[in-house]
Order: sequence, then C-alpha cells, then structure tokens
Amino acid sequence: MIYKRSSALFKEAQKVIPGGVNSPVRAFTAVGGEPIFVEKAKGAYLYDADGNKLIDYINSWGPMILGHAHPPVVKAVIDKAKKGTSFGTPTEIETEIAALAVSMVPNIDKIRFVNSGTEACMSAVRLARGFTGKDKIIKFAGCYHGHSDSFLIQAGSGAVTFGTPNSPGVTKGTAKDTLLANYNDLANVAEVISENKGEIACIILEPVPGNMGCIPPKDGFLEGLRKLCDENSILLIFDEVMTGFRLAKGGVQERYGVDADIVTFGKVIGGGLPVGAFAARAEIMSHLAPEGPVYQAGTLSGNPLAMAAGLAMLSELNNSPEIFTSLEKKTAYLHEGLATVLTEAGVTYTINRVGSMISVHFSETPVTDFKTAALGNNDTFKKFFHGLLAEGVYIAPSAFETWFLTEALTYEDLDTTIEACGKVAKTL
Ligand SMILES: *Cc1c(COP(=O)(O)O)cnc(C)c1O
Repeated sequence: MIYKRSSALFKEAQKVIPGGVNSPVRAFTAVGGEPIFVEKAKGAYLYDADGNKLIDYINSWGPMILGHAHPPVVKAVIDKAKKGTSFGTPTEIETEIAALAVSMVPNIDKIRFVNSGTEACMSAVRLARGFTGKDKIIKFAGCYHGHSDSFLIQAGSGAVTFGTPNSPGVTKGTAKDTLLANYNDLANVAEVISENKGEIACIILEPVPGNMGCIPPKDGFLEGLRKLCDENSILLIFDEVMTGFRLAKGGVQERYGVDADIVTFGKVIGGGLPVGAFAARAEIMSHLAPEGPVYQAGTLSGNPLAMAAGLAMLSELNNSPEIFTSLEKKTAYLHEGLATVLTEAGVTYTINRVGSMISVHFSETPVTDFKTAALGNNDTFKKFFHGLLAEGVYIAPSAFETWFLTEALTYEDLDTTIEACGKVAKTL
C-alpha cells in the first residue's frame, strides 16, 4: 500500500502539533513508522488519505460498536446541529439519555454527563473522596483511567507503550495518595488495605481491563473486591469507559453479576462524539453540586450533538440486545481462526477474549495481569502489526491494546482478516 499523502500530512502536522497527533497512541511510536491519516470511514472500513481501504479493529478505540458513520447516529447529529450546537442551559435530551442509561445499567439511579472518560474517572474519584471523607485510592498496575494526575501511576495503554507509566509533572503529593495493587491478586489488595486502614476512599479498576491487552478477571476476583470494599467502607469504582454498553447492555456489572458503587462511562456512550459519564445510586450522587458539596462542572457537558449521538447509539443497543450475542459470536469466530493460523505457523501466542474485546499476545505464559502482559515479544508484535496493515487490516499500534469488534463486520471480513493473519504469521 502507498502512504504518500499520509506521510506528507504527517510532516505538516508535526510542525504545529506535538508529535503530529492529539493523542499519543495514534503516533505509531511503539511499532515504528508513521500514522495513517484517515479521510473517511463507513461501517467496518477506514478509507485513508491515499485511498487505501482498511478493515478497522480499533473503531475509534471502542465507540463505533455499530460501525462508522452509522446512519441513525449521523442523522441524529445533523438534525440536532440545525437547531443550534450548544446553549449552556438544560435541554430535554439530557434527561432522555440519562433515563435510558439508568434503565440499562444495574444499580445506578443518577448519572452526570461530562466530555471524556478522563473527566468521568477524575470526577468519580473526587466524589468518592467527598462521600467517604478519605484521601487515598487504590488502582491496579496496567489499568488506565485517563490522563488525570492521580491515575498516571503505572497506567496502562499509551502510558506503558511510551515507557512513561509514571508521568513527569505529577507531583509527589498527588502520587502518594494513589496506592498500587496487582490485578487478579486479591491477597495483594487485602494487604494494601490493611497497611492503610481507614484511609482508603475507593478502589478504581477496569473490571475487565483492556488497556494492557484484554484480561479476563479470575473467578471470584470481582466478588472478592466487592467484599473487601464492604468490610472496609471503601467505594468500588468500575471504570467501564471501555466495557460499558460493549460487554453487555449493563456492562461488567451485568455480565459478572457484581455491583459497583460508582460506574464511569465513555466511548460507546457518546456514539463517537466526546462524551463521558459517571453514575451511582442516589445516596452517593446527592453529594455532587448543586445538590451537594462536591464540585464538578463543564461548559459543554451534556452538549446536544453529543447527547443526540449517544441517545441514538444507546437506543439501538437497548432495542436490539441481540447485537451483543452476535458480536460475541463474531469475536469467538475470529479467535478460533486466529488461533488456528498462528498454531499452523508455529508462532508462540496467547489470545485473551471477553465478549467483543480480544487481544493477541506473543507470549507463552497466560496473560493475567500487567507483569504477564509485559512478557510479550514486542518485535514480533511490530512485524505482526505492519504485516497486517500491508494486508489492509488495521489493529491498534501497540501490544498493550485490545481489538474492538464492530457489528458492521461481516464473516467475510473476518475470513479476510484470518487469512491475512495466516499469511503474516508465516513471516514472524
Ligand atoms: C479510554 C479510557 C479512558 C479515558 O477516556 P478518554 O475519553 O480518552 O479520556 C478511561 N478509562 C478507560 C478504561 C479507557 O479505556
């Protein structure tokens, strides 16, 4: 494939945008080479600035669960835009999407909309601190909760990819209130709690992590966290920015039958527009301004275009829950196909999958936490990534990311992908 125009656009971008990108994972730094500039997208495909067509397994890092430029979402945004794009006053559609979200997700009474997953997680932690009157939080190594200061301690995703899990610019004062634990390791969490008795406001986690590749929770892990939180008056925050409205209508809470105290959302909930949200039972949410003292605000929060896109997306998922089953079947099919061709080629690999999230790790050891995720062979991943790209298959440009399937993918697309993987596997 030719990337002449992408390459020229990247040169221009680098002159005026740091690294030429507005979010680091887009830059291909982990795999080498230059990012692809996209011109347009439709369904399961991206069309780049050079006219190449790619089967897309990033899907804007998760939101496009029904495919790019999904007609009901596009129509909702256009219709709304004609009536004005932002007012800074309440609008009816905010209540509509809030009511729908609350009806789809277990265990939440009220929801507040913000503009990104980062904001949602940052605000959820502030609320947990305000509600409990305690300062410290526990997060897990390799989990990513956006780029706010408290979370850039052993963060996953881009932060690991770029070798800066602990970012400069985060003060020691902030860092000391973030305690680290190992995912899937209850004994470790219990130890951290007992060393900080009475000081921990919340445990925040990706209940099914996707930012160190996809990692399934071990049997009893989420239940065990719930129990530890109950015994120690700690709030449990499920960061469902990635898993919410993807792994089930009601996300991980529904899929695994474990209740969180606060849940955060992003990605799918905005249908591809900048939206985040956090939700909890009324008793907790009443601590939020203007009802309560914990401050949180946003000039563009609940923006009508964003709410229209999100409402169109959630409505379709709510009315057609068979989408989740269909997506899961497609992902299982892809899983089986990839396993077959990788085994045939004699490649060492581990594939993790939950619902429509799947990741390929070039390592023999089961990938169950950040340590084991980091054991993958990065050189093999780089070859795999570029090989697939040359075959017209676009996966995330980092070994620490998950592939997101979209319902727009056909079985023919999956076969093309498996075939491409088979061809590339022979070169690894
Ligand atoms: C993407 C992501 C975030 C951050 O969301 P942004 O919209 O990029 O700020 C937070 N948590 C998880 C689990 C995510 O996957």
